[in-house]
Amino acid sequence: MSSYLPSSLLNSLEGLPGFDRAAFEEVHAAGERVTSLRLNPAKLQDKDLAEKVLQSLSPVPVQPVPWSQHGYYLPQRPSFTLDPFFHAGAYYVQEASSMFLEHAIRHSCDLAQSLKVLDLCAAPGGKSTLLQSIISAGSLLVANEVIRARAGLLADNISRWGAANVVVTNNDPRDMARLPGFFDVMVVDAPCSGSGLFRRDPAAVEEWSPESVALCSQRQQRILADAWPALKEGGILVYSTCSYSREEDEAILDWISMELDAENVPLPVEASWNIVTTSSGKRNCEGYRFYPDKVKGEGFFIACFRKTGGGAWQPGKRKDALPALSKKDRVKLQPWVQNLEELYCMAHQGDVILLPPGMTSIVPVLQQHLYLRKAGIKAGQLTAKELVPDHQLAASTLTAATVPRVALTREQALQYLRKEDPAVQAAVKGWALMQYETMPLGWAKILPNRINNYYPKELRILKEI
Ligand code: SAM
Repeated sequence: MSSYLPSSLLNSLEGLPGFDRAAFEEVHAAGERVTSLRLNPAKLQDKDLAEKVLQSLSPVPVQPVPWSQHGYYLPQRPSFTLDPFFHAGAYYVQEASSMFLEHAIRHSCDLAQSLKVLDLCAAPGGKSTLLQSIISAGSLLVANEVIRARAGLLADNISRWGAANVVVTNNDPRDMARLPGFFDVMVVDAPCSGSGLFRRDPAAVEEWSPESVALCSQRQQRILADAWPALKEGGILVYSTCSYSREEDEAILDWISMELDAENVPLPVEASWNIVTTSSGKRNCEGYRFYPDKVKGEGFFIACFRKTGGGAWQPGKRKDALPALSKKDRVKLQPWVQNLEELYCMAHQGDVILLPPGMTSIVPVLQQHLYLRKAGIKAGQLTAKELVPDHQLAASTLTAATVPRVALTREQALQYLRKEDPAVQAAVKGWALMQYETMPLGWAKILPNRINNYYPKELRILKEI
């Protein structure tokens, strides 16, 4: 069969577990588009609302992604840009195979514990939002991205997700070595040659070459070696790629097993999922291959290890305290934030940052060693008179029930999200949350004869209908 896939790629995959050349070429030639998303359980505790979100996206009942609690397939791809629920952080559009990270974490970690989790290569945030949804409220996720512009995108996606127990950092993997034994879990969703996404993005084939596979393989080893010291003894490493190439998959498992103090953690996989269990040639480490001709999803590879040496983080003598908000200023936050007494309010360059109490001893350590792009939820800026609320507060799950709200229709919501003035008669005055189907979209200030739209300019919808 003729195909747009490079023959050097196809030839290199011959003999790999589960590789069926004819079926593989056929599924790429057919070019079916699989669409899937993961709901945000923190924002959709109301089951009826969750149902409403799914129904608004699909005229027929949606099918669950078998290895993810909140993942669903959609029968077709709607315009997410024109869906107010998307902007409200009701869900994250994520490729289904990569949601298997959830299964890997559930089977290798005790999620009831307060864990420190590092997502090392995190932008745009698919795996980070997944991790945030499955860790406990007392756990902390550090979502890191080395490329600055991509770290900005990651921070926006984390803000939209709305959780307070996340820190976004913008560091090179080697900087993580400044935190020896710090993390309980480390996810390395490594930059790779990207063959797993060829069905979804045939143009990406142009960038593929055997040389890029070799380069990626070297880089993957470097990234793992650089960040490895930051994982504590007994901690879990999850390694994944969206490449089919042995050099980036099984060969890396052998390298991890030989070069790092790590033991492979096999995962249970149901036969009906059609995921192929593979074993690395030299050290018999198990990994899991996802082929689009076998699973309903794109190409993916994942494996899990436990660290067997290296000890755990020893906190230094230096005890930096975060600057706390004065009692007087805390009072100003009362009308805005629910359960304020359970949160730490930090004063930071005129802003107020809300942190879960478990993070107060961790954030100073991170601040000392890494470049923090975002930590917790920015409540806003305190002026002499009032709080000027930040978009992060609107997008969070922390706003007090007493904050005035304005219900928008879908049309009005889209006007608001385009940063136009939503044609709405509001009964309230002053700062108000603009909502779609009870989900906050952002702030507006209601004045006697107009509404000032405070939706962040950089997030506004640009696309015309
Ligand atoms: N985990 C992300 C998700 O689920 O949305 C996707 C991550 S993507 C496969 C790999 C990421 O690694 C990219 O964001 C890329 O910018 C970053 N990256 C590129 N070079 C890197 C390097 N040398 N060290 C660490 N990360 C790198």
